[in-house]
Amino acid sequence: MNNPNDPQRMERIVSLCKRRGFIFQAGEIYGGLNGCWDYGPLGVELKRNLKDYWWRVMVRERDDVVGLDGSILTHPAVLKASGHVDTFSDPMVDCRTCKARLREDQVPEKNGAKQCPNCGGKELTEARPFNLMFQTQMGASAELESIAYLRPETAQSIFVQFKNVLDTARKKIPFGIAQIGKAFRNEINPRNYIFRSREFEQMELEYFCAPEQGMQLLDYWLEERLRFYENIGIPRTKLHVLTVPEADRAFYSKGTYDIEYEFPFGVQELEGVAYRTNYDLTQHQNASGKSLEYFDEETKAKFVPHVVEPSAGVDRTVLALLCEAYDEETVTDEKGKSETRIVLRFHPRIAPYKVGVFPLLKNKPELVAKAREVLALLRPHMMVFYDEGGAIGRRYRRQDEAGTPFGLTIDFETLGEKGEELRDTVTLRHRDSMEQERIAIADLLATLLPQVQ
Ligand code: ATP
Repeated sequence: MNNPNDPQRMERIVSLCKRRGFIFQAGEIYGGLNGCWDYGPLGVELKRNLKDYWWRVMVRERDDVVGLDGSILTHPAVLKASGHVDTFSDPMVDCRTCKARLREDQVPEKNGAKQCPNCGGKELTEARPFNLMFQTQMGASAELESIAYLRPETAQSIFVQFKNVLDTARKKIPFGIAQIGKAFRNEINPRNYIFRSREFEQMELEYFCAPEQGMQLLDYWLEERLRFYENIGIPRTKLHVLTVPEADRAFYSKGTYDIEYEFPFGVQELEGVAYRTNYDLTQHQNASGKSLEYFDEETKAKFVPHVVEPSAGVDRTVLALLCEAYDEETVTDEKGKSETRIVLRFHPRIAPYKVGVFPLLKNKPELVAKAREVLALLRPHMMVFYDEGGAIGRRYRRQDEAGTPFGLTIDFETLGEKGEELRDTVTLRHRDSMEQERIAIADLLATLLPQVQ
């Protein structure tokens, strides 16, 4: 039943996300704010698990990468030097018939002519550049000098703080600075749910190196990033690597790969891995008048470092995880009735809840007390959901829809009422196979922990 070509697949996923509390439209009760999304109780856990795993493998498990958390409000000079003030724009056209504003390179063509996707009108204005940055005012005065921007990417604060980090972290090249944080782009047409929004999060690494290391490191980081996606449950077969042709690359880039995923609405970019030469640091060095050079103790060479940048979108990856995990299957219940089971087959590492804990009956204090004991044992180590309401089958189904990989049921066997040998054992139910096994409470941590980390 998991048909990736199902035309309604995206709608089903969006509907599940709302129903279960993954994602809501921002400001929904006031009609919604276009291009902005709020993550609910399950969504926030999923997103956090993704970011934590990225931080773990990109920063904490490496000797050569340190972190940064830069400010969102950005000095206009930073974005002037980076080129964003002058050139960070998309081509915009207006439909003369329905007045819709459209991104020119996304307007579909029919019979060789561009056509408005809203009304089918063929009369479009000339394309003109529309700058995607959000501008705001700092402080109480409305003078030109008080302009600030919401950052359109996290990368620039890394470049601007390069020298401070180098001096304090005492790293030798090659080394990287990583950052996870919000970025803002006034997209002309936010669309495809959380794929293209106006407020989103990025996970970016700027990996500084000597010029002769750039091309090799570009390929190294591509492989690392592909491995990352596999380790969170996105198989290599669903990922496409696009070698961006020279004509489509930024003029300063010597090589760029786009890592794309087969979304239900088409193959689209998840992450860009780009060798940006020393363009960014050179721009900031020239504009600020401060040296951003690196002195190599061994070769005694002084140079502006080059950089390889893997830049991933948190929200796009969350969407890929949801699309990859969503499944529907027909199952037969104990009474022989068939029903549709909706299940999110998340990798346990990124699943919002790792374990559901269920006392078989809520009106038996001994069962509830034992379940609370299991909860207290697991909670310091993993996100656990406790549920004592309704039939056990229904509780399992709810956790299937939340993507919880394991269910633990505390029953009369646990209390030793069906034989001493079963005392302090529980039923462990596996989400994907729905198979159940008996496991000692004492073995729970050793069994579950390695699977969810
Ligand atoms: P696109 O061509 O899709 O607009 P881009 O090439 O401009 O994306 P980059 O500037 O390379 O994107 O940004 C790096 C990553 O940040 C992208 O791969 C994507 O995952 C994420 N990203 C960029 N813009 C958005 C957005 N509007 N909404 C959600 N994620 C975004």
